[in-house]
Amino acid sequence: MTARRRVSVFGATGSIGQNTLDLLRRQGGAAAYDVVALSGGRNIAALADAARDLQADVAITAYRDCLPDLRAALAGSDVAAEAGPEALIAAAERPADWVMSAIVGAAGLASGFRALAQGATLALANKESLVAAGPLLMAEAARHGARILPVDSEHSAVFQALVGEDMAAVERIVITASGGPFRDWPADRLARATVAEAMAHPNWSMGQRISIDSATLFNKALELIETKEYFGVSPERIEVVVHPQSIVHALVGFNDGALMAHMGAPDMRHAIGYALNWPERRETPVARLDLAALGQLTFEAPDPARFPALRLARAVMDTGGLAGAAFNAAKEIALDHFIAGGLGFADMAAVVEATLDRLAAQERLTIAPSGLDDVLAMDHLARVVAAEAARARAGAGQG
Ligand code: NDP
Repeated sequence: MTARRRVSVFGATGSIGQNTLDLLRRQGGAAAYDVVALSGGRNIAALADAARDLQADVAITAYRDCLPDLRAALAGSDVAAEAGPEALIAAAERPADWVMSAIVGAAGLASGFRALAQGATLALANKESLVAAGPLLMAEAARHGARILPVDSEHSAVFQALVGEDMAAVERIVITASGGPFRDWPADRLARATVAEAMAHPNWSMGQRISIDSATLFNKALELIETKEYFGVSPERIEVVVHPQSIVHALVGFNDGALMAHMGAPDMRHAIGYALNWPERRETPVARLDLAALGQLTFEAPDPARFPALRLARAVMDTGGLAGAAFNAAKEIALDHFIAGGLGFADMAAVVEATLDRLAAQERLTIAPSGLDDVLAMDHLARVVAAEAARARAGAGQG
């Protein structure tokens, strides 16, 4: 009999987290897994329900002010209640075999690093980790003999297309973008797009932030960088193509002319399940494709004028150093200001570009980080610079 796997899920109350818990339950739940830690933010009811149901050792909310509610919700159970960023890190240090990293944003960096340091297999949904600190994260995994498995659907698709292949034979990697809800919108209409409109993703059901990042193509911009960091391919060999049906998730081109496409219904439980069960495959509840009913799949080039995020990502990859950390932080701040109503949709890219320009002029971006602290310091600095840029932009807009 094989040992029960110890699993932790960071970001358990989010879209990826809930899909992960769904798969864990379908695969036997508490009877099949030792659930070590589950983390969430403000959704205490969902966190406590999951922790009770899956008999977790500990449930952690990222926010200290939520601890009394979490304690109350877990009263009478054997689940310990913890709160705050330090508690998250301590939870990631608890021995586990498999850890899902699905906190949104740079807040997810530290727990992923700690999970790798204790040798866990890290299922990485938090793409911000690779964007902000890719070389450090890969080095941390190598140092501790730990493995990172991609959860982003495009990267899971590339990973699967590469099984049994020699990276030396890979000519190019193509990741697809749905184009988001504004694929066909003219620039003047884009400028007036609302948060609700930006969240209406045509194919995927996701958290608020990643849905809006899909509408700006910032999500694809992060994924470009993620591809470079995860697979170690040079930027000019990574392409983005708009594919509105979201059926082909990525393609790998080989030196004999073959182009291997990974296809599937747009349901994150496929990629999560692949990472959960790797190197085996197990049944997941995703819809099976009816190709005849689909009829046709279409592909088109992204429009760089209306969606500047991809151009910015290429500049970030060329710069290296701390540029990825600055890019991600500036993007998060611009997004905060858009959600809060202070910035227009098209202003988000302008704020990110202004932030990168200012930090580049100060010669801060090309510095190679020596550890996570350097990345977090840049993250902090870029947030300050981006907030100034956002306020200046909003002020100019109102004037
Ligand atoms: P959600 O917004 O749905 O969930 C985010 C999770 O992080 C929630 O558990 C939330 O808690 C928690 N959280 C929020 N803020 C903090 C914080 N400051 N500290 C600690 N925890 C926090 O996000 P998604 O599930 O959509 O995305 C998660 C990650 O996966 C992101 O990096 C995203 O880019 C990536 N990803 C998502 C995909 C998707 O389909 N959704 C696809 C591919 C990648 P609470 O809700 O309780 O406040």
